[in-house]
Amino acid sequence: MSLAALLLALPVSVPSERCVPGAPGAPGADVAIEWHVAPVVELWFEVRALAASDDEPQGELAGAVAAARAALDALGSERAFGLLEGRLEDCQDVDDLAAAFGSLPRRFTLRTARGPREIDLHETGARLVAALRPLEEAWTRETWPARKRELDARRDQLQVFFERGEARAWSRLCELFEFASGSQTVPIWLVTRAPAPGGFTHRARKLGAASFIALRSAAERGLSELAEIALHEGLHALEVRHPRDTLFHALHAALEAAGRAPGDPAARNAVHALFFAAASAVVQAELDPGHVPYGESSGLYDRAGPEAARVRALWKRYAAGELARAAFLDAFVEASD
Ligand SMILES: [Zn+2]
Repeated sequence: MSLAALLLALPVSVPSERCVPGAPGAPGADVAIEWHVAPVVELWFEVRALAASDDEPQGELAGAVAAARAALDALGSERAFGLLEGRLEDCQDVDDLAAAFGSLPRRFTLRTARGPREIDLHETGARLVAALRPLEEAWTRETWPARKRELDARRDQLQVFFERGEARAWSRLCELFEFASGSQTVPIWLVTRAPAPGGFTHRARKLGAASFIALRSAAERGLSELAEIALHEGLHALEVRHPRDTLFHALHAALEAAGRAPGDPAARNAVHALFFAAASAVVQAELDPGHVPYGESSGLYDRAGPEAARVRALWKRYAAGELARAAFLDAFVEASD
């Protein structure tokens, strides 16, 4: 065997570093959610939620909401807000936000479905900071204490809920999606509200990924629904942190081999459908047998169409060990067509 071949073979020859489906005692259980709340993160998403609503906000938040709407126009999509929101990981107050946004680039080329789009992230961030600063004092004094009590109480309830089986839940997800083992946390910020769909995960410089979950969507979210969304966002975080050698990469590679363009939205949706299926099944298996999947309670499954339903059915068979990996990949490509 040549040296090059040996080097290529090395990662495969160290199976103890990988979660291998079906391997007894597969590593990967050492993943845990790290919950956060922060006044400026709560203020940020309050403004973002108001900006995304049809309401015309009155009073002191109106200026910041207008700035958030202007930022959305400048960024061109909700998704691009992640370029700013990934930097909330370090922020407690508006000064932190100013420091975090201060190094944003003035010229950033965003790849969109309609081609490249150049945006001034630095200016967009600076305008939002300037709009939030006048609100901070009253927000911290009058609004934040009650918000913090509610967020802390919900976080405590979630921690108790997850005590029933968080380690097993992550172990199972890690095993199925082939995430490398090792101790890691999934940082999640709880906020009262946020724009739809109320759960986001963004690339973050220090933590790798940062997730944000709203307690209220259209309505108050129950604990098992919040837990499913936390695991779902955690899967996004692990996907961001593991840029190769996972089931996601195998799925995307299989789709591309079948002629689907990289980044094809329908293909991305098909892979994303697995997140819903996997996170809800793990909540039912490890945390709450009576859990109603978020896709059902939110009407998402009804809207998602037959491909997503086929993909979920396949996933169920794969997770139950009824389909080998290669057969699953083939069937997935077919089902998502
Ligand atoms: Zn998602």
